[in-house]
Amino acid sequence: MQLHLPIEAPQPVEAVHRQLAQTFGRPPERPRLDPASQFIRGMLSVRTHGEVSRDVFQRLQQRFPNWKGLEGASFNEMWNLIADITLAEKYARYIPQAVRNIISLRGAFDLDFLHDWPVRSAMQWLERLPGVGVKIAASTLNFSTLQKRVLVIDTHHLRIAKRLGLVGPPASIEEAYPVLERQLPDNWDAGALEEHHWLMKRLGQTICTARAPSCGQCPLKNLCAYAKAG
Ligand code: SF4
Repeated sequence: MQLHLPIEAPQPVEAVHRQLAQTFGRPPERPRLDPASQFIRGMLSVRTHGEVSRDVFQRLQQRFPNWKGLEGASFNEMWNLIADITLAEKYARYIPQAVRNIISLRGAFDLDFLHDWPVRSAMQWLERLPGVGVKIAASTLNFSTLQKRVLVIDTHHLRIAKRLGLVGPPASIEEAYPVLERQLPDNWDAGALEEHHWLMKRLGQTICTARAPSCGQCPLKNLCAYAKAG
């Protein structure tokens, strides 16, 4: 006889947020970067630990106090400066290419013009640049001084959303993005979305890790399809 397990209904993102906030509190205050600087920071952050990408960003900023100088940077120079990030070989090429593309399209390496654009159009414009995926585009718009209402989804966030049952198991970040976006409360502003990203990342770094989630200690265990399935 075939057993049919009950399908878990997705739990509201608001309940997830509330329970994580009770555990981890509020994100620390940090200075916002202008969108062009945040764009570079996002490219250095792909699959790289935050402290490593921050140090590499500072090194790059010291060498190029005016980001425009990146347009002429050679692969070897870039490689030497950013070798500590996970995808150094790719981004040693992508960063100067993206800077050149933006200068040729807009006349300067400046992304402030996106301030007045609808989020979807701004995301699409950024995602056409070399090496830019949905996470870099969203972090440029949400984390920077633009403060646009768009959710940043990283690998921690995606893994937890799958375990909670908020998205299907095979979903990529690109596929998960519209599914999770539809579940966001309408009254959440850009700051609430940034806080949600921070909370999910904290959970992924400390409790819901990739290899061994500690469900017994998790503030979401009463909401989680993975934990309920044992
Ligand atoms: S209960 Fe377990 S699987 Fe679910 S979010 Fe928490 S740690 Fe992750």
